[in-house]
Amino acid sequence: MSINESRSSGTHCAPKVTAIVGANWGDEGKGKITDIKAGQADVVVRFQGGSNAGHTILNKYGKFALHQLPSGVFYENVVNIIGNGCALNLEYLEKEIAKVMEGAPQLKFQLMIDRRVPLVLPHHIQLDELEEERRGDRQFGSTKAGIAPFYAEKYFKECIQINEIFDDAHLKNRLEYLYEKVNLTLVNVYKAQPVKFMDIYDRIVKYRDFVEKHMGDATAFLRDARHNGKEILLEGQLGALRDPGMGIYPYVTSSHTLAGFASVGAGIPPYAITEILAVTKAYSSCVGAGPFVAELFGDEAQELRMRGGDAGEFGATTGRPRRVGYFDAVATRYGAQCQAATQLAMTGIDVLSYLDEIPVCVAYEINGKQTTDFPAPSLLDSAKPVYETLPGFKQDIRGIRKFDDLPENAKNYVRFVEKQVGVPITWLSNGPKREEIVEL
Ligand code: GDP
Repeated sequence: MSINESRSSGTHCAPKVTAIVGANWGDEGKGKITDIKAGQADVVVRFQGGSNAGHTILNKYGKFALHQLPSGVFYENVVNIIGNGCALNLEYLEKEIAKVMEGAPQLKFQLMIDRRVPLVLPHHIQLDELEEERRGDRQFGSTKAGIAPFYAEKYFKECIQINEIFDDAHLKNRLEYLYEKVNLTLVNVYKAQPVKFMDIYDRIVKYRDFVEKHMGDATAFLRDARHNGKEILLEGQLGALRDPGMGIYPYVTSSHTLAGFASVGAGIPPYAITEILAVTKAYSSCVGAGPFVAELFGDEAQELRMRGGDAGEFGATTGRPRRVGYFDAVATRYGAQCQAATQLAMTGIDVLSYLDEIPVCVAYEINGKQTTDFPAPSLLDSAKPVYETLPGFKQDIRGIRKFDDLPENAKNYVRFVEKQVGVPITWLSNGPKREEIVEL
């Protein structure tokens, strides 16, 4: 493939590699922060996840929900990479690109798909749906994008990587063997129809030209980009509390959401990552099942939900209403520590302008004892939030560009959160649009 020379040049300046990751349950506004930072970057890499979550971006072209595309696609000089840690659904990606091009027909973006990315295939989605159905009232709230069956298969070492789709005999052989097992599960466990592997073959080979055009060796590309002093962003999906190791297991996603995994999922040495920017929201929101200690209910929740995000707190992929609550310092401090955050970006502070007083969850009470440490997942159901209340700022602050111009109580809120989390806040987002941002 050919990738244009990206912007910065000169082999003498030190490369800057920043991971942009979530400190919470996802939906923190990573897409917006990446879109802003991509303006100065040369490369943006997605290192995990697939089409199961979305980043909402509002910029000069309009409003977009990106699922698999990295958030640098709106800058023509940025090379966007889908890293080996991702789950690639080619059919969805084709639709996603068409949607972006519909909103921004003049846009020419650069996309590289690492040659080691495995493919999400139709049976992953089917198994995801069948399994959620089987679980009945114990559903995980899967987005049914096939992500859990995909990663299970990846670690079973059975997925098809994109580099494998060009040799007919090899691909047929791999698919025939794969579907022998898939069909055992479909037929015997779920009583579903078996899949003909040649149907899947036909669906895959249609994408050969597209894949050939975009396939590259991301590891070598990133090595050279670092050598040439380029600025690289590693973009995470979901947040620390959805990590399958450190999060609220089993209510987690199936790929590692932590900056520590960015090195593996992008193909870059761990010591190359110079900054870890964790994104948190000025309040809490979460999609799907699982314990959510600071959750609000009833009218109080509905008011926050409707005022949140760019048009209420509803999932970018599913449109599902998000669960909401006030800022949870216990969970966010833990999330920032899991991410090893060196900086924090706080989004959505504008949303809190309606409150006379702003409660912040500063501790959990579990079995009569207070703790400020995030407990093991099995204790979360019995945890109750302990709040400290700060005075509200009661003023529309959208579009203010300088920290000093913010009302005193908004500044106090930011400083309070910063102290609670223990990581400097370097970006404050006060509206969904690209220009609604304060750099501290
Ligand atoms: P991501 O997956 O972390 O990128 O987050 P999502 O895009 O799923 O959700 C974040 C939501 O908050 C989107 O609707 C954004 O447009 C919106 N958003 C981002 N920053 C701000 C902000 O500072 N204020 C407001 N009101 N909304 C924001």
